[in-house]
Amino acid sequence: MILIVHGGAGQKKPSRASLKSIEDALMAGYEVLKRGDTALDAVVRAVRIMEDSGHFNAGAGSVLQLDGVRRLDASVMEGAALQAGAVIGLEGIRNPIEAARRVMETQHVMLTNLGAQRIAKGLPPLPRPEEKTLARLERLKKKENETVQLYKEHFSTVGAVALDRYGNLAAGTSTGGTQIMLPGRVGDSPVIGAGTYAENATGAVSCTGTGEHIIRLVLDSVKSSMKQRMDL
Ligand code: ASP
Repeated sequence: MILIVHGGAGQKKPSRASLKSIEDALMAGYEVLKRGDTALDAVVRAVRIMEDSGHFNAGAGSVLQLDGVRRLDASVMEGAALQAGAVIGLEGIRNPIEAARRVMETQHVMLTNLGAQRIAKGLPPLPRPEEKTLARLERLKKKENETVQLYKEHFSTVGAVALDRYGNLAAGTSTGGTQIMLPGRVGDSPVIGAGTYAENATGAVSCTGTGEHIIRLVLDSVKSSMKQRMDL
């Protein structure tokens, strides 16, 4: 059994508190595997702990979009039957990873807008952003014009991959997006095959970094493998 978690890419040194949350997520997720539950259960548990901690750019700690609203993305996938679920731009919900799992249990893979809000009904609410977070956004808006330049500071999306005792893999990712972003911006994290992927025969992955780059990279590798096949 294996569980790996991440607390996002970025240039800042991780704080003690965020390292402690990573440890908590690993311990709790591994307990889930030890008691015989699935890799998917372990991934959701670990990601949820990091969303709840408020130390990452996910769940309770998520950054604001330029209009001061937090719109959260998350996805999960399991590697046996290739079931997957994702939510995009979820507002007011603390654990988008749970909402993504709910989507996975429907016939759909991704929900946004009204559908995402409806499926997340009953999940714990996201607290309102603190005044200091709103003030910080205003300062950042004044300092930098190019949204791209603002990715550099701090990412810290969260994610996990797990292998359970039945030989099944799962992966999950949850994010508030990037440091400064236009309202409605969506990165790689909720995109199955970009931010998250799991297939028992191949592996499981949860990505972090600038979503726009990750999506382009994935498209580029699809192009290369198509070209390779055509050359055969
Ligand atoms: N990949 C995330 C996004 O672009 C950001 C991150 O990993 O920190 O939304």
